[in-house]
Amino acid sequence: MAKSVPITVAHGDGIGPEIMAATLHILKAAGANLEIETIDIGEKVYLSGNTAGIEPSSWDSLRRTKVFLKAPITTPQGGGFKSLNVTVRKTLGLFANVRPCVSYHPFVDTKHPVMDVVIVRENEEDLYAGIEHRQTEQVMQCLKLISRPGSEKIVRHAFEYARRNNRKKVTCFTKDNIMKLTDGLFHKVFDEIATEYPDIENEHWIVDIGAAKLADTPEIFDVIVMPNLYGDVLSDVAAQIAGSVGLAGSANIGEHVSMFEAIHGSAPRRAGQNLANPSGLLLGAVMMLVHIGETEVAERVHNAWLRTIEDGVHTYDIYEDGKSKEKVGTKEFADAVAARVGQLPQTLKAVQYKAAAELAPTAKSAGQTRARAKKDLVGVDVFLDWTKGSADDLGDALSKLSGDGTKLEMMSNRGVKVWPGGHAETFCSDHWRCRFLAEPLGGKVSHLQIISLLQRFSDAGFDFIKTENLYNFDGERGYSLDQGA
Ligand code: NAD
Repeated sequence: MAKSVPITVAHGDGIGPEIMAATLHILKAAGANLEIETIDIGEKVYLSGNTAGIEPSSWDSLRRTKVFLKAPITTPQGGGFKSLNVTVRKTLGLFANVRPCVSYHPFVDTKHPVMDVVIVRENEEDLYAGIEHRQTEQVMQCLKLISRPGSEKIVRHAFEYARRNNRKKVTCFTKDNIMKLTDGLFHKVFDEIATEYPDIENEHWIVDIGAAKLADTPEIFDVIVMPNLYGDVLSDVAAQIAGSVGLAGSANIGEHVSMFEAIHGSAPRRAGQNLANPSGLLLGAVMMLVHIGETEVAERVHNAWLRTIEDGVHTYDIYEDGKSKEKVGTKEFADAVAARVGQLPQTLKAVQYKAAAELAPTAKSAGQTRARAKKDLVGVDVFLDWTKGSADDLGDALSKLSGDGTKLEMMSNRGVKVWPGGHAETFCSDHWRCRFLAEPLGGKVSHLQIISLLQRFSDAGFDFIKTENLYNFDGERGYSLDQGA
């Protein structure tokens, strides 16, 4: 018999303990070879005074087993409690969120009878770095950070997932027609990595029309990879329109540790009544089995579950008179799935994971070995908090600060060019970007020249709120131009 695989299990709050018991019962019946370490997380831990909701010792278990099967938890109301999911995700570097959104027509009500889409969401970067500043009376800023290594990791994961799971196509959603540098990088990395997977089709959609298509015609998509914010929004949309929020599981994948769970919460009002549907957690556990290489068990569990759904054995949340055959509780549902281990669905498509383990390992990222580009400082954007007049007034005043190798090139307000040659209709806030480039144009600027420019700003009584250096990388512009520029 193969060596058993250690995993860490948290039973969670609300319906958590019931759906976890049901899930573990089914995994055992299907012959999963697991060595379970149990940890406490959630409400009890929060209320004991631990604001993170997880004991320091639990991290040791997670680092040891590297696999976390987690039931939903309740975050207590009131301030001071940190989201456990965010803490776990950030602490363990869980860079990929993978969420299959599948409809089970005609057995479970759905708007889209043939939907079978997997959303792969980047989990660590983008606007979720949490770097926000209030810069003026009127303007707040949130930094959107997209890195090449981060993009490479998530895109590669999407293609690897597709290959492992017999998927045919990976689609990328970005908004790189507007965010040419950040989303542009994500798209570029997608195109580069796609060439390493000639067996898998690839395509890119602008996220707005892509999202509309996903909501309207999900059957044209297979695996979709996207940056954090779009993924956050669209993975919920996709799960909801599949008609089966209570049936969806998800994986949070890291380089060292990975976490598997249901997408729903702890549903406290349903707790302790043997009512909850354990399917979301069970399908999360199926992803875990594939992840740890127990692909045959994963296949047995998933197919037995599909057969149960098909046989009309349903918990209250998906039960429908006429369509369903038997309304069951959590325990009875688990027994029904366990009794069907070894059976295949008759109408729904049976899943196949067996081939996954036989895949050859793929080449690792080339990202680490890239030569660093030659970086030239060519100017600086100085941001001002200023309310004393028009764009032309400010332009006149700042033109006098040019000199010592830098020259005012243009000014913008909320990204729209307002000097020189602005339009009277453009609304101006108190937040101005003033771009100084090397003089003569095309040359380089030194840190000292920027410091001396800022000294002149300060001497003239301007409130500069931040600066952003302007670089060229191997001669290619590393900053955006303005709308209207
Ligand atoms: P929820 O997902 O717990 O419940 C939403 C609705 O779906 C409820 O009507 C509930 O009865 C139903 N439902 C959810 N799962 C079900 C299941 N398995 N079977 C049958 N019905 C089910 O969302 P909520 O009510 O907004 O949140 C409750 C608690 O869960 C909150 O404390 C929240 O912070 C927490 N939460 C935890 C996680 C997590 O641990 N990953 C995720 C989301 C919410």
